[in-house]
Amino acid sequence: MFKVMAVNAGSSSMKFKLYEMPEEKVLTGGNVERIGHDDAIFSILAKDGTKHKKILPVKDHSVAVQLIIQGMKDEGIIQDLKEIKGIGHRIVQGGPYFSDSALFNKDTEDKIESLIPLAPLHNGPHLIGFRAFKKALPDVGQIAVFDTSFHQTMAPEDYLFPIKREYYEKYKCRRYGAHGTSHRYLAQKAIHEYLHDKKDTRIITLHIGSGASLCAIRDGKCVLTSMGLTPLGGIMMGTRTGDMDPSVFNYLVTSTGRTAESLFQEFNKESGLQAVSEVSNDTRDIEAAALKGDEKAKLAIKMWALRLSQFIASYACRLGHVDLIVWSAGIGENSPYFRKAVIDECTEFMGLKLDAKKNEETYGGKEEIISSKDSSIPMVVIPTDEELMIARDTVRLLKLK
Ligand code: ADP
Repeated sequence: MFKVMAVNAGSSSMKFKLYEMPEEKVLTGGNVERIGHDDAIFSILAKDGTKHKKILPVKDHSVAVQLIIQGMKDEGIIQDLKEIKGIGHRIVQGGPYFSDSALFNKDTEDKIESLIPLAPLHNGPHLIGFRAFKKALPDVGQIAVFDTSFHQTMAPEDYLFPIKREYYEKYKCRRYGAHGTSHRYLAQKAIHEYLHDKKDTRIITLHIGSGASLCAIRDGKCVLTSMGLTPLGGIMMGTRTGDMDPSVFNYLVTSTGRTAESLFQEFNKESGLQAVSEVSNDTRDIEAAALKGDEKAKLAIKMWALRLSQFIASYACRLGHVDLIVWSAGIGENSPYFRKAVIDECTEFMGLKLDAKKNEETYGGKEEIISSKDSSIPMVVIPTDEELMIARDTVRLLKLK
């Protein structure tokens, strides 16, 4: 028995989970939010399952790491730092370099650093988090787990954009996708538990949260995923546009006089369900408004459901046949209403059908088959667990026993 940590460091936050491995038991987890502020918030799960919270100044990520370590000691979760045998870090962008998770060494660090222009809000803070842990626990092995690595099996015809080749060669401009750790977790679990590791499995995984992406997976390997160079691509999301005619961008820059950067931020942070519904980016609010008859909320749901159904149909076409469709993440796990809105668009041609009762009853972390017996393809809700995947990779790559 030994302990490993899964860490997700952002620019002003540091989320963590501590596992006992190989049992995969969660010992604690928490977050340091508002790093850099005098009123930062540190929360940690105590042994009795309650959440303990403190508001205090946290100057930087090194202070956050100290806080997390001391917090785990104070809660009696660890007695000695030596109990922690490995740390896995979530890294958003691994570019073309990483088709698997990797040991943190100078080369890994340099490559993550060189990819900062592709993920300016993430890769920098991830490195700061790694370095803060290295300072505190210099002898503990650390690994990088990339959101992009699962998608590295895409073929050039899928990852290249139809633009001049020099943009790919000089600037690494191509489809990378995201949510890869989640899609990988869902695929492994689905193929093992629902398809009994049979040969030639073909599945579609739907990671549908505020950010959302689909993945067509054959034999456990990504064939195609919906996010592109960045998470802005693919289906319509909570606040992101998803795919659009690229000339929208040029047209709006020219006709509004806004800068490209400010429009780009708006397409990421104030578009999608939020912009169309003018209610919220949260499906719970939009559902409530639609049920009261709000026309814009209804339109937002219809636009969203149609786009998602079109992706599902095109991925099914691409795979040739589909053994299983997996729903996951905030909306996929929790919203019967939004799931139904999508499946209603996939019934006539594709023959997808929900079991109405099972769909209604599946939310809040439940794992359940939600398709009816006569659905052309079975569908299951599986709660995703990216941190567990990070913990498993940490054990695998550091060869911990
Ligand atoms: P992200 O990780 O991209 O921020 P999540 O996977 O956490 O997104 O999904 C959050 C979204 O899930 C919310 O914005 C909301 O639209 C939707 N949602 C619906 N029902 C629930 C629920 N019961 N709990 C949490 N999120 C929910």
